Amino acid sequence: MSVRGFDPKAQAGKVPPPRRRVEVLVVGGGPAGAAAALEARAGGAQVLLIDENPVSAGLMGLDVPHYWGGRYTTAVHTRARMLEHVFSANPALEAAVEAGVEVELAVSCWGAWVPGYGLASLPHPIAGLADEERAWTVGFDRLILATGARDVVLSFKGWDQPGVMGARALQALLTTYDAFAGRRLAILGSGPPAMAVARLALARGLEVAALIEVRGTVQGPSADHEALTAAGVEFLTGRVPTVAVGGADGVERLEVRDPATGARRVVDCDTVVQAIGLTPVVELLDVLGGALAMQPALGGYAPVSPGGTRTSLAEVFVAGDVAGIPGASEGTVAYQQAWMRALMATSEPEVVVCQCEEVSREALLAVRQPTYLGEPSPSLAARDLGRLLEDGPANQDQIKRLTRAGMGPCQGRRCREQVALMLACASNQTADHIPLASYRAPVRPLPLSVLAAWDEAPAMSAHWDVWFGITSQWIPYADVGTERESFEAGVLGGEAPL
Ligand SMILES: Cc1cc2nc3c(=O)[nH]c(=O)nc-3n(C[C@H](O)[C@H](O)[C@H](O)COP(=O)(O)OP(=O)(O)OC[C@H]3O[C@@H](n4cnc5c(N)ncnc54)[C@H](O)[C@@H]3O)c2cc1C
Repeated sequence: MSVRGFDPKAQAGKVPPPRRRVEVLVVGGGPAGAAAALEARAGGAQVLLIDENPVSAGLMGLDVPHYWGGRYTTAVHTRARMLEHVFSANPALEAAVEAGVEVELAVSCWGAWVPGYGLASLPHPIAGLADEERAWTVGFDRLILATGARDVVLSFKGWDQPGVMGARALQALLTTYDAFAGRRLAILGSGPPAMAVARLALARGLEVAALIEVRGTVQGPSADHEALTAAGVEFLTGRVPTVAVGGADGVERLEVRDPATGARRVVDCDTVVQAIGLTPVVELLDVLGGALAMQPALGGYAPVSPGGTRTSLAEVFVAGDVAGIPGASEGTVAYQQAWMRALMATSEPEVVVCQCEEVSREALLAVRQPTYLGEPSPSLAARDLGRLLEDGPANQDQIKRLTRAGMGPCQGRRCREQVALMLACASNQTADHIPLASYRAPVRPLPLSVLAAWDEAPAMSAHWDVWFGITSQWIPYADVGTERESFEAGVLGGEAPL
């Protein structure tokens, strides 16, 4: 019997090695990443720590990696000043440098891979890194993901204008960048993130007009409630935002409504901060194939992490908010869903959900094809979420492909969670039943000019056509001359190209 041979045209052994390999790569230079890097260094390891901050003004305009909402000063255009701020705002980074950790700022990690199923040709684990001008890979023995958290944000009329932003984004503008352009805030939510943002804003001399809460009672600690009330902050419970009204410079006021009575109220503010929830930044772990599970007490989809730092992948560890959001509880995702349900009940169906692709809530729930494809055929027009659900559980990836919601340059950071919450509401489920929509590398927008200079090795390009070998469509070279050849030719109806 002949056996399958080694395919000389395969990629195996030809993947160009990264220009360098480090013992420990830390992604994220916040408190957790800096502490992890220091500890690894103290243990004698060679450590490289990278952090994407300061991100370019161009990326901030796309709401990457946070929902900045356009409320930053022109200072973000001055790179040298921003670098200085990022460094001085986090003294642990300086300590790490002094301890011998190599720190690279303004560098993002857009993907990471470990050898395994489907990646057998990879010689060892690698990460894809990039700055504004180039992309490269670095090999690693151990990877520590300390990628933090980002805001869960929801849509209402007027949310797509400057001045509507996320709590984590505001925190970064105030503490890391010193570049916040607003003065008077209305904050959505009254749980731990909302209380934290209100305290921070007051400490920085900003005005906090009100905290708006969809539930009938304040959700955060009573001590915070009392302290903020004493500072003149109003708590408007049992209300939903109906419209953020704005002018040329964005938000000028927020209208809120009591759904029970219909009573309206106007809150004067230049910024609406969404502080309904934070979710772990798990995109790299998903690309790596690490196990993730819906864990509301950790803030949503979070790493399956025995002991808090390990992941399902032997080489990959997590630290800080990515492993679980402090202050989250079993009720965290249900709380977010309560907000979504109220907004769906009170706001107009034309509200845009996916700002990048301009998909409205109505279009999303009707699973309508993108408008640039023109009028749908009668059979497509008859399709809606109800029909789709007859085929199986709500699947956000499928909705994404059909409507394009989540496919734009912000990479779904503004709409990913709310689409899942909407699908849960529309299908009468709790949001923890909606599977995680998958992430794909690159997890940061990369200009093609950055990737263009990154060529494969000559040995790989010599036979690039065979990379597309899909066994259901052709006979792999390794099988030619073996007994599998006739079997596969039979499967393909005898018309298999070699
Ligand atoms: C409004 C607000 C107020 C708060 N106030 C307080 C407070 O007073 N005291 C307190 O202790 N905590 C506070 N917190 C919580 C605190 O900020 C977090 O718990 C803490 O920052 C978590 O640290 P971390 O290192 O895990 O994540 P982060 O500080 O978020 O750091 C993660 C870093 O990784 C970077 N990163 C992510 N992905 C990539 C990538 N692919 N490539 C490169 N870099 C990447 C991120 O940009 C970020 O710089 C507050 C939070 C908020 C939202």
